[in-house]
Amino acid sequence: MTAGAARIDGQWIGGRWTGGMPDMVTTNPAHPRREVTRFASADDQAVDEAVATAAGAAARWRTIPAQERAGLLRGLAGRIGECGDHLARLITLESGKVLSESSGEVARAIDTLHYNAARALAPGGEVFDSPAAGEQIRTLRFPVGTVALITPWNFPLAIPIWKIAPALAHGNTVVWKPSELTPAVAAALAGCIADAGLPIGVVNIVFGAGGTGARLVDDARVDAISFTGSVATGERILRSAGVRGVRVQLELGGHNPALVFDDADLGRAADHVCAGAMLAAGQKCTATRRVLVQQPVYLPFVERLLERVAALRVGDGFDEHTDLGPLVSADARERVEAAVAQAVTDGADLLAGGAALDDPALDGGHYLAPTVLAVRDQRPLTCREEVFGPVTSVLAFGDDDQAFALANDTAYGLSAAAHTASQTRAERALVELEAGQVSINGTTTGAELHVPFGGVKASSGPGGREQGEAAREFFTQTRTCYVHPAGW
Ligand code: ADP
Repeated sequence: MTAGAARIDGQWIGGRWTGGMPDMVTTNPAHPRREVTRFASADDQAVDEAVATAAGAAARWRTIPAQERAGLLRGLAGRIGECGDHLARLITLESGKVLSESSGEVARAIDTLHYNAARALAPGGEVFDSPAAGEQIRTLRFPVGTVALITPWNFPLAIPIWKIAPALAHGNTVVWKPSELTPAVAAALAGCIADAGLPIGVVNIVFGAGGTGARLVDDARVDAISFTGSVATGERILRSAGVRGVRVQLELGGHNPALVFDDADLGRAADHVCAGAMLAAGQKCTATRRVLVQQPVYLPFVERLLERVAALRVGDGFDEHTDLGPLVSADARERVEAAVAQAVTDGADLLAGGAALDDPALDGGHYLAPTVLAVRDQRPLTCREEVFGPVTSVLAFGDDDQAFALANDTAYGLSAAAHTASQTRAERALVELEAGQVSINGTTTGAELHVPFGGVKASSGPGGREQGEAAREFFTQTRTCYVHPAGW
């Protein structure tokens, strides 16, 4: 597939394209008049066939020695490396993110595959003492079976790989539904999977929007579901999984606070807040949505933040000078603009940005100026709801108790950061901030691949964390074996 208007013929099932007339299209967020991909959405029959194929491949795949599975994952990493420039370009073409971040995503996908290849070789169980003489108690780990993976557009390669890699490493087969906004990245990954020689049917891809995803999660042959996306979709999936009693992993939204205490290094804090709020046009679930600043340093901090925000260059992600690209779609930008307008109505003051950029040189791309709002309390909409764009709200606080209370006064709990020189405050932040990850003197964004990732409250579901050891927990089930050898 070449960059520019491409065509995906059907679904990728059993190692081949099924054929089918394209009924959906993606456009380049930086040049909305340019089509990127025409593709066909999966109908009921195609979803059925994909799940049947994955379920059919499961019995063989689970018996392939872990060493061999690991080798195949390393081979896939190698193939992705060879196609890295092409994949990165597709990521930027479809999602709008800057090319260097797209390349970083490719590198992350490769590292994640290598990590999970090694994890495939972790001990397959444990041995325990028994109160009965001569008896041994052991656990064995087995794959869960056939898993459905549903992913969003904002990390169209890294997020799918951080689900696909552990699923395969631990012996499961996959039906993956990528976002309808990033099908070309998924199709290119299918090519890499085929080239790497993964057995036929181990990974299958169905394309389409929410309806395709809903059919997939409702299929009775799906043994587990891993989803990253919006709270509304996550709740629907949880209900469906609950009815069928299958395990489900949900990574949903966030409303991530950064706390700036009066003893913080203000320049460094401003760097991290600016990057955390604005890069990738704020389209990360870990983006910094609220900045809580202690009263004595409020003005000098805001001054530094605004300096950094003013220096950001907005433009096409293919331009090497660009810091942040467009929002992913016209709808996305409209939603963000409306939320900012509502926040101003709710009493917020606009300190920077707030409007679409309509410079003719920007070719009608879905750009929004990096936006900073000053708020007096957390009632404005941008402080309550996840607004998926380059928008952050700054609020002054008095004492530490108030800071933690404000930070936790949200339905979400994905990520948080605290900026302070005090070890006592830092330790308190680690304990008190209600979030799945807390950064001290760092940014709310980012996550390493070998450590748990996920949130609390509305940010995650009941199925536990992703990545690291947590991924193995999710993609395997244990059997406890009581062994009392005959004759003892
Ligand atoms: P986002 O705001 O990131 O687009 P969504 O939850 O709408 O969040 O989408 C994330 C993924 O979930 C996409 O692949 C999308 O097509 C899929 N999806 C949307 N609705 C449903 C649904 N009802 N069931 C299953 N998947 C869905």
